[in-house]
Amino acid sequence: MAYTVPQLTDYSAVALEKAAGECVGACSSEAAEVRSDADLKAFRDRWLARKNGILTQINDVWLKGAPKEAKRGAGMRVNGVKTAVEDIIDKAEYIRLELSTATSGAVDISLPGIRRPIGAEHPVIRTTHEIVGVFQKLGYSVAEGPVVETDYYNFEALNFPPNHPARDTQDTLFIAGQQAKPQRERLLLRTHTSPVQIRTMEKMRPPIRIVIPGTVHRNDPPDASHSPMFHQIEGLAVDTNITFGDLKGTLDHAMKALFGSSVKTHFRPSFFPFTEPSAELYVTCFICGGSGRRGPDPCRPCKQTGWIEVLGCGMVDPNVFEFVKDTGYDPKKVSGFAFGMGVDRLALLKYGVDDLQYFFQGDVRFLQQFD
Ligand SMILES: [Zn+2]
Repeated sequence: MAYTVPQLTDYSAVALEKAAGECVGACSSEAAEVRSDADLKAFRDRWLARKNGILTQINDVWLKGAPKEAKRGAGMRVNGVKTAVEDIIDKAEYIRLELSTATSGAVDISLPGIRRPIGAEHPVIRTTHEIVGVFQKLGYSVAEGPVVETDYYNFEALNFPPNHPARDTQDTLFIAGQQAKPQRERLLLRTHTSPVQIRTMEKMRPPIRIVIPGTVHRNDPPDASHSPMFHQIEGLAVDTNITFGDLKGTLDHAMKALFGSSVKTHFRPSFFPFTEPSAELYVTCFICGGSGRRGPDPCRPCKQTGWIEVLGCGMVDPNVFEFVKDTGYDPKKVSGFAFGMGVDRLALLKYGVDDLQYFFQGDVRFLQQFD
């Protein structure tokens, strides 16, 4: 039965407390019955309407009807009821608002949540991390540098002669509008991560052991095995008495860690401007195991030779140390080796991908295979 405001005959504290308690209790019960916006409005009007709402009735019936000596106690009770009833109604409104936005507004709490795929490491990044990890275990630290470089760091300090073909716009992407500057200050997109070797040696005295992963650019049109943007990892170790034997031992260990303990390594003489002597490192083909064949078919990745070229390396040319002599790299006192490899090509071989462009097209269907 709906609550009605009783006439009070007894204005004792006990009677007032009882009446107030019943009133607030009734309000609470009615608040719990609110199911819709219409319910809420009816509930609110019934209790708060200025004309004949329950709070107005209580004021009229309990307070105005009270004998003079009981007015003060009755007034306090009526104010208490008012505050409690207003709190209950506020709370009912708040709950109603929450429910209506949840069920009819922007958020439907009955629907399953939206799954946000966390993605996976890109095969090139994963391969980078694996290679860097091998050298970190050998005590190498990671160094990085700017992708937009000066001619000085990209070529001059690395012993490239002034007319070297790499300095031509056919091979290198130069930043426009640099003609007014002296050649060594002209900006370009670095063609290798080697400038970071010079930058690191300018900041750190020997001994150093660093690996340098990074993005590099060359003026190559994109095709199955070329991209104007690709990734390299270089390494540099400088100390007193570093020999070619240290280079061979380090890289042989690294290749076994990367491709399996059964791979064999093989060094062939080569040429790079910044190392002397220089070599290319081959490993036995980790696809055909060095046989050059896959069952009855020829092994394409190693062109049936059983060997795959992995990186270029060599002993740091003393001319390079001359550029960083001031930070302790006296070519008469220190020696070192450097190596560099193309991460993208290794990732192609490792994952059996036949077109480099897949790596950089951002096609989710391709990338999902590497989850
Ligand atoms: Zn092979």
